[in-house]
Amino acid sequence: MLEIKNIKKSFGQTDVLHDVSLSVNKGDVIAILGPSGSGKTTLLRCLNFLEKADGGTMTFDKETIELHKASKRTIARIRKKTAFVFQNYNLFANKTALQNVTEGLIVGRKMPKDEANKIAHEALKKVGMEDRSDYYPSQLSGGQQQRVAIARAIAVNPEIIYFDEPTSALDPELTVEVLAVMKRLAQEGMTMLVVTHEMNFARTVSNRVIFMEKGVIVEQGSSKEFFEHPKEMRTKEFLRIFQ
Ligand code: ADP
Repeated sequence: MLEIKNIKKSFGQTDVLHDVSLSVNKGDVIAILGPSGSGKTTLLRCLNFLEKADGGTMTFDKETIELHKASKRTIARIRKKTAFVFQNYNLFANKTALQNVTEGLIVGRKMPKDEANKIAHEALKKVGMEDRSDYYPSQLSGGQQQRVAIARAIAVNPEIIYFDEPTSALDPELTVEVLAVMKRLAQEGMTMLVVTHEMNFARTVSNRVIFMEKGVIVEQGSSKEFFEHPKEMRTKEFLRIFQ
């Protein structure tokens, strides 16, 4: 479904991604792991054009584009197939949960309000937030806000959802409820690319793991292989910390 070849990205003198390549099949839940500063978030942001890569190609549904040359129109077309869930939720403070979910449908996708409301209610129901649809973000816990953000992602019916450390701003208790929602999405076949430090999620929910360090993929494989038989020394060291 999605193939990335040789993504490169620098910030000034700092090389952050060196020729990163990966392919994603429909229904994959891929955990992107690695120490802080290894380029995981930058990779995800380049995939959704929140950062502009310096080089590399993306093939999405058989259309190949050069990342550094993508036009606004191409970017808009590819973004329509994707959704992004941020670490800090990025909800509009002056809009209710429902309005946060409908915004992208009405403004971005030009959907009639009634239809957008119907889809938003369904999405909020899916994340267990239907009874809070009229609440503002400040009236919700972090976990609830993140679930609204996930509802907003689901509502646009994306082919893939990118999650950038979706639980790292949350207390353990609230992390559990967000991970439960993500697990359900995964079980329903949603394709997901998840930058995370949640080893348990990576082990039990994702089918594949990518381990990055210093802007390169050091090791990747099925979750089972990765956790039970890591090959690279660096991966073994990383995993030892979590045991
Ligand atoms: P990770 O998600 O693995 O923690 P990041 O992708 O956030 O890593 O960051 C990788 C490197 O890129 C870090 O050294 C970080 O300081 C640098 N970096 C990220 N974003 C920017 C930016 N906007 N400007 C300059 N440097 C950045």
